[in-house]
Amino acid sequence: MRNAPKKIAILGSTGSIGRSTLDVVARHRDRLQVVGLAAGSGGARLTEQILRFRPAVVSVKDERAARDLAARLDGRARPRIGVGTAGATEVAVASGADLVVSAIVGAAGLLPTLAALSAGITVALANKESLVVAGELMVRAAREAGAQLLPVDSEHNAIHQCLRAGRREEVDRIILTGSGGPFRGMDRSALERVSVEEALRHPTWSMGPKITVDSATLMNKGLEVIEASFLFGIPAERIDVVIHPQSVVHSMVRFRDGSVVAQLGAADMRHPIQYALSWPERWESAVAPLDILEVGALTFEPPDHERFPCLGLAREALRRGGTAPARLNAANEVAVAAFLAGQIRFVDIPAVIEEVLAEEDGSPADSVEDVLAADREARRRARAVIGSERIRR
Ligand code: NAD
Ligand code: MG
Repeated sequence: MRNAPKKIAILGSTGSIGRSTLDVVARHRDRLQVVGLAAGSGGARLTEQILRFRPAVVSVKDERAARDLAARLDGRARPRIGVGTAGATEVAVASGADLVVSAIVGAAGLLPTLAALSAGITVALANKESLVVAGELMVRAAREAGAQLLPVDSEHNAIHQCLRAGRREEVDRIILTGSGGPFRGMDRSALERVSVEEALRHPTWSMGPKITVDSATLMNKGLEVIEASFLFGIPAERIDVVIHPQSVVHSMVRFRDGSVVAQLGAADMRHPIQYALSWPERWESAVAPLDILEVGALTFEPPDHERFPCLGLAREALRRGGTAPARLNAANEVAVAAFLAGQIRFVDIPAVIEEVLAEEDGSPADSVEDVLAADREARRRARAVIGSERIRR
């Protein structure tokens, strides 16, 4: 006989990861039950999700969205509706969830995710920004409360799988793979002219707009180096990045005997999401299994740091430690939003971040208040840099 279904809450349910998560749940309704959903707006998508999955607790970003949601539901379902960070935190810790899928985009996901870990609840983490902003605090909270932190990000999920092949002290290096994004191989003058539309056309993955731009600048890989360092307790010097345009090898671990263990699969996030939801078991999946003969050749090349400075900036922030990664992340969020709004060029994104990082005072990140203050200050600085004449329109 099977156990009672695992109760899950999804933060960011209407996004790319959130919808893929619900797709996995829909195929395993005997094993998974949705008890909470949090999203930004209370539009048609969230309404539909609530009617289909019947969570007891939901949350949206503000009062207006909450009124909109209640009107759309029109009595057909009556979940408790919260708002803002407090509402999302309630979905995480007061919905009775055994597992929280953290898939809000950006630093906005930090507090509810941290609250889940502090309450000892397993977190399936897609929201890498929270770990970049407050890596030590999150890892400490998980350790103290005995909470599992399972990576959903495909690379880290792959590493989690590869690590099952050996002991921690036997690990020599982590090798993160990345597709290189849509502008791989493009020269500097062409990069100066790329459009928002081109940046949003990812060659291998279909994802939300912010991470798609991060993939094009290689900041996504930079954030992932920081994420890997905190998740697996491995210093940046032992984390390599290689460009692998086919996105078939999702990452690798090299052990001290020289053996490299890799995880391969389709470029479909339902795979790592389901691994995190089913762990420590593996379930049958809706994702078509990888056909290695169809894949044919796999290629690997080093990243180009000169044309894509974001990866180096992220490593530098990690090296400095303290609130530097939080400042890097905040500046990146502001710069990416400005690029998407047509206010700055693609090549201005690293320029804005570099200026904000240059003012880093090296302050410690001992508390949530420390990192939130650094986040606010870096956003203010980034907006000032974007408004200045140094960034040409
Ligand atoms: P997305 O933009 O598609 O979705 C974001 C979700 O967060 C939406 O449901 C949105 O309503 C919600 N949201 C945004 N601001 C909010 C707020 N203030 N309060 C409550 N909800 C809010 O983004 P995505 O591509 O699904 O990415 C989500 C996270 O997962 C990001 O951190 C990203 O880096 C990470 N991730 C995504 C992928 C992917 O394939 N999409 C892969 C790896 C990691
Ligand atoms: Mg990734």
